[in-house]
This record gives sequence, structure tokens and C-alpha cells, in this order.
Amino acid sequence: MPATADIVIIGGGVMGCSMLYHLARQGATRALLLERAVLGAGSTGRSQAICRMHYSNPITAALAWDSLQVYANFDDRVGGDAGFVKTGYLVVVEDIDRPSLELNIAMQQELGINAGLVTPAELRELAPMLETFEGEGLAWEPESGYANPYLVTTAYAARARELGAEIGTRAEATGIEISGGRVQAVVTGQGRVETPVAVVAAGPWANRLMAGTGVDLPLVPVRHQVALATRPTDQLPDHPIVGDIAQSFSFRPESPTLTMVGFGEDEVELDNYNEGIDQPEAASALSRLARRMPGMAESYFRGGWSGLFTTTPDWHPILDRVPGVEGLFCAVGFSGHGFKLAPAIGQAMAELILEGRASSVDLSPLRFSRFAEGDLLSSRYRYRVLA
Ligand SMILES: Cc1cc2nc3c(=O)[nH]c(=O)nc-3n(C[C@H](O)[C@H](O)[C@H](O)COP(=O)(O)OP(=O)(O)OC[C@H]3O[C@@H](n4cnc5c(N)ncnc54)[C@H](O)[C@@H]3O)c2cc1C
Repeated sequence: MPATADIVIIGGGVMGCSMLYHLARQGATRALLLERAVLGAGSTGRSQAICRMHYSNPITAALAWDSLQVYANFDDRVGGDAGFVKTGYLVVVEDIDRPSLELNIAMQQELGINAGLVTPAELRELAPMLETFEGEGLAWEPESGYANPYLVTTAYAARARELGAEIGTRAEATGIEISGGRVQAVVTGQGRVETPVAVVAAGPWANRLMAGTGVDLPLVPVRHQVALATRPTDQLPDHPIVGDIAQSFSFRPESPTLTMVGFGEDEVELDNYNEGIDQPEAASALSRLARRMPGMAESYFRGGWSGLFTTTPDWHPILDRVPGVEGLFCAVGFSGHGFKLAPAIGQAMAELILEGRASSVDLSPLRFSRFAEGDLLSSRYRYRVLA
């Protein structure tokens, strides 16, 4: 453990590692990342890692679009394999949500995002394995896909190390030392690291770390379940990703023989929740899957897990300086959609930390003070992860 560092990032998920890489690339090579377990041990390692741009707010759609260009060209842009698979992404909404769908598509198109409304007949050409029902609204993103969160996180970490940054794993930060209104050090079980800058990227555990700082982040852990379902590869060799708002779940291909299904949003206690899956809910998700993709009617359950969304009141992250403490930053509260945003957020946070403001994107909609100001972002849907 070094005794000093210019910047200490706490948390080795995809966000911490992306920030470390972008900081090092922008010249901050005396940066250190501390991870209490192993890289990707938190929400990142359990992520469905779907990369789509369908959102209700331009800031999130734009960050997702910029990041998609990185995931789709990861070896050239960063170096290494992101495991990105382009599948196309379908959004399905009930009749009542059509106006929201149309507004979101218009907003995406204004931003230059490749997305559009499709009719059931057009969808039959694009994805004949999918079923749609009377009144449903459909939108299609041809360039979307999914990546491998572990490969991405470890690639960012490896590239950052090559640039001179350091990473300590099994190195828990136990506190942030503040005096005179500024960060002095990050304290760990293996010693104290003197630093003027601390960046909290500790996912749902961020508030524990902030406990001594007098700062209370509005974070609520929400459990999301992921089940794997067998797929008859001869009849269904592939399928796109589907954000099935009409049936409140999502699915994507995982391999030639497996489909990954995501469902459920339950507020839980941190470190004391069921990390497996609930059988009745999994059975319900598999029957919704068979309704949307009839070729899965004979599919059976092949295991699953649960992980935590770190939610904020408006289901958007907090990317900012922590008010009142010089040198303290946070990148937390990704509310179930942080993986797809990590490349653009790593870049923007590095700019904020090194230059005083993000130049690649205006981060002000994601400022810390929006909660106190009552200036929250809002989703056009009841399915809040599509905020
Ligand atoms: C089941 C599930 C499905 C998801 N699906 C998608 C999806 O399809 N698309 C998408 O974009 N997003 C998805 N997400 C969300 C996405 O995975 C997260 O937003 C993202 O991984 C958050 O990354 P992070 O680095 O902020 O947090 P984390 O990955 O949780 O990393 C935080 C790290 O901090 C470490 N840590 C905590 N406290 C300390 C400490 N005191 N000292 C040192 N280290 C500490 C933890 O061990 C952890 O490794 C999903 C999430 C889940 C759970």
C-alpha cells in the first residue's frame, strides 16, 4: 500500500476501474484504486450488462450512446475484449405508454441515436421469433447489444495499471480523513494513504464509507433477480434483447443455448438479502418469456442470482463533488443502469476531478444538490430502470 497518492478511488467495480483508466490517460498516473474484495465483486459482476439507449432523459441517453461506441470498438478505443455482442434491442410498451415511447424516440433521434418506432409487421422481419399483442407499441435500436462486465472491468484495470496507476485488492477503505474542510487521507486496514482527492465509487456500500464525513447520500438498495433459461438452439439460435415494459421484465441471449431473464425490484437490507432467486417469481418470468417468445415454451430454469441496484430517488446517479468537503467526489447511485454508462462517465468524472468541470458532457443534471433543490429527473414509465 503506497503511503501517498494524488487520487484515491474507493471501489473496484466497472465505475471505479473506468475512472482510474480515464484519470491515468489524462495524466493522473499517481492514482490508486482500493477494492475491498476483488474487481467486479459488487453489482458489476452480477450485471446483465445490456447496452441500450432507450431512456426518458437526454443526459442518460447521450451517455449510453457515447458509451456504446466504446463497447462496440473496445479493442481500438481502450484495448482488450469487452465481449460485446450486437443483437439489436426491442422496447415493448402497452397502449397506455405509447405517448411516452414516441416522446423518447423523438428525443433519441434529436441526439443522433439510431432508434425508431417499428410496426408489428416490420418486427416480424427483424425478429420473427417474437410475438406482439394488440395495442402494444414497439421501438427498435439496431446497434444495441450486451457486453461482459467482468472482461470490461478487468480490461480498464489492466490498461490503467499499464499507464502507471495502482490497484489494491482485498484492501478495504475504512474511512476518509477530513480536516480543515478538505480530504487528508483514506484509511485502510493496511495503513493510511495520504491524498488530497478521494473518489467514492463503492456502490451500495458508499454510505458506510461516508459515515464519518457527515454526508448522507440518498441511496436505497433494490434487489434485482436474474434467471438463466435453456433455449432450444436448433429452433431459436438467437434473438435480440427485449425490454418488455408491457410485462415488466427484460431478456437477452447469454449463449447459444441460454437466455438471461431479469426481473423484480424489491427494497432490501444491504448485506442481508437473498442472493439466490425466488422460484415463484422465476416461474412467472419464464411464462412471460414464453408468451413473448413462444419458442421458449419448453424452456427450463438453469439457475440464477440476485444483485443490488443502488437507487436514488430519481433513479439517476450522483456524479459530483461532495459539497462542503474539498477534494471529495462521488460516482454512486447508478440505479440499475450504470454498466452501459461506464465509459462516458469514467471520461467525464476524470475531467471533473482534473479540470474542475466535465467538458465532454454537461453533468449538472446529475449534481448532488438536485435532491435538496427538488429538481429531480423523471421517467416517462412506471418501469423506473428506464428512467
Ligand atoms: C442484477 C443486475 C443486473 C443489471 N443489469 C444491468 C444492465 O443490463 N445494464 C446496465 O447498464 N446496468 C445493469 N446493472 C447495473 C450495473 O451493473 C451497475 O450500475 C454497475 O455495475 C455499478 O458499478 P459500480 O462500480 O458503481 O458498483 P459496484 O460494481 O457495486 O462496485 C462497488 C465496489 O466497491 C467495493 N467496495 C465497497 N465498499 C468498499 C470499501 N469500503 N473499500 C473498498 N472497496 C469497497 C465493492 O466490493 C464493489 O466491488 C445491473 C445490476 C444488477 C445488480
